[in-house]
Amino acid sequence: MTDKIEIKAYPNGIFGATTYLIYDKKTLEAAIIDCTSSIEEIEKEIKDKKLNLKYILITHGHFDHVYCVKKMKEKFSNSLIFMHKDDLPLLKQVEVQCSMAGVEGIETPCVDGLLDEKSQNLKLGDNEIKVIHTKGHSKGGVCYLIDDVLFSGDTLFCASIGRCDLFGGSFEEIQDSIKNKLFVLDDNIVVYPGHGEKTTIGYEKKYNPYFGSNY
Ligand SMILES: [Zn+2]
Ligand SMILES: [Zn+2]
Repeated sequence: MTDKIEIKAYPNGIFGATTYLIYDKKTLEAAIIDCTSSIEEIEKEIKDKKLNLKYILITHGHFDHVYCVKKMKEKFSNSLIFMHKDDLPLLKQVEVQCSMAGVEGIETPCVDGLLDEKSQNLKLGDNEIKVIHTKGHSKGGVCYLIDDVLFSGDTLFCASIGRCDLFGGSFEEIQDSIKNKLFVLDDNIVVYPGHGEKTTIGYEKKYNPYFGSNY
């Protein structure tokens, strides 16, 4: 597993979503991946370690993953919020998503830049952050690959996959995304999902029940 990047997980977000704080150990450049809880704790960590928060990276536009994005940006106004362009319609609806789920208090964040698979010059120190578009849970869902760790949002979980019955979801698309864009990665890559325990590409290729004997 990566020795260049430090990873901290805050798994107690809305609907059990996880916020990740990652940083390059050499340059202390940092990114937050999804932001759904623990604002004060993360703020303290950033200040204690003297990190430079460059990015807030959104895996997809569901409210449980972006719940605290706006508040975090207010604390670190130099950081840039990025997400895939195809989930912008979802993001614009986060207040509606929240009220349908009976959750209060979200404010819609403004995005600083929109991603697709070609727009890849995100870096933490020397490490490129690769954007992998993995539609299927939502139209604009992405995974972020940095060094040998993958942040998989709600696309791939430990022994499971994301729901496909929500707006923009498709079982065929999520299967295609996982098979052709994630399972082609190295088996040793550690996967940090948007909910639940971490896993590896190799483990999921073998044991994920949605693919099972195909692999
Ligand atoms: Zn989701
Ligand atoms: Zn989720």
